[in-house]
Amino acid sequence: MQRIDQLADSVLEKRESLGPLTTTSGESGLSKSYLQRMFVIVSRSYAGTSHPPPEGVKQIKAADWSEMLFAVGVPERRLFEVYERALRDHTSHYAINGYDLKAAWFRIRDEEATAAYEAEMERRRRAVHHYECRRCGGQRWVFEDGMKRPCEGE
Ligand SMILES: [Zn+2]
Repeated sequence: MQRIDQLADSVLEKRESLGPLTTTSGESGLSKSYLQRMFVIVSRSYAGTSHPPPEGVKQIKAADWSEMLFAVGVPERRLFEVYERALRDHTSHYAINGYDLKAAWFRIRDEEATAAYEAEMERRRRAVHHYECRRCGGQRWVFEDGMKRPCEGE
């Protein structure tokens, strides 16, 4: 990890000279561990190929892909998940690249947004509205067995 450490330093230095990098998710700073994790992904993406590129090339790719994914808000803890998704959806015979990872992230994000929207719609559908409730007449409480209880709807 010696060389990736050095590369991480030089990438971070270069990055700093361009100004702070913040993402839409509010996490700031492209960290060394982010780059290291990405280096593992780059290496894995070439596993099984007959002519994997030299280490130096993989390091540069790791830096490029890190910047690409960081800029669109991929958190470090989700990098491997994004890679696995890209791998699952991959159809071309070329090795996975940064654009595949980015596209995989957008698919994950869209699916999560859809799931959150559907959950909210379901929550609203299940929410009991009492304004025309025949049980409580809009009071939101009822008397049952001589006790005042919250109305659970009709
Ligand atoms: Zn009610």
